[in-house]
Amino acid sequence: MLDAGTGLRTLTRLLDGAAFRGSLILGHCHWDHVMGIPFFRAGDRIDSRVRVLLPQQGTPAEELMERMMSPPLFPIRPSTLRGDWTYETYDEGTFDLEGFRVMTREIPHRGGRTMGLRISDGRSTVAYLSDHAPYDVGPGVDGLGEVHRAAVDIVKGADVLVHDAQYTDSELVDRMDWGHSAASYAVTLGHECGVGRVFLYHHDPSRTDDQVFTLRQSLRVPSGMEVDVAIEGDEIRL
Ligand SMILES: [Zn+2]
Ligand SMILES: [Zn+2]
Repeated sequence: MLDAGTGLRTLTRLLDGAAFRGSLILGHCHWDHVMGIPFFRAGDRIDSRVRVLLPQQGTPAEELMERMMSPPLFPIRPSTLRGDWTYETYDEGTFDLEGFRVMTREIPHRGGRTMGLRISDGRSTVAYLSDHAPYDVGPGVDGLGEVHRAAVDIVKGADVLVHDAQYTDSELVDRMDWGHSAASYAVTLGHECGVGRVFLYHHDPSRTDDQVFTLRQSLRVPSGMEVDVAIEGDEIRL
């Protein structure tokens, strides 16, 4: 599982009564990417196995999770979840995880170390940059952020790119210090890396569904590329 936000509760339903036995790899530790863990019933049971991996940033992984999840903020701690839970950090590099090849590169965001993730099963590859501030590297040709080396390493030639698309171009101008991308940057990055399919992700929480689709319609998409709004519950076959 990539990240562990509130959508993790949906996984319990998908498992249909079975325990989760696998890994949660977190691109970074912000609330919206970890808040599902305390409510993950398929993981919080005696027959589960949950390996949590998060970016190395000088603090033990379990200690970081405990900051989010301990009294008085929450009644239980990571150590009191039922089942076989382990916590570890990862750095930039390439490693095998649950039968997948995982490549990680640090990408700019705000407040804590953030990784872009490239996941491959040997047949198909998904690139995932959930929260990304590419203008921290440089303005790029259109002022929306640099198509920088780490992002290209993660995205190049992937089948699917799932990317931060929180802002319109004009909104980004006033929110350069918020750590997120304009939707059109996601299209540019995907195009320059030869990705045919881009999912706009991490929508602005204040935007309605209609507004998200309007934003999608406003984008200039190069021919041969498919750009879709990521929707909760979507299933994509590669
Ligand atoms: Zn974040
Ligand atoms: Zn986020």
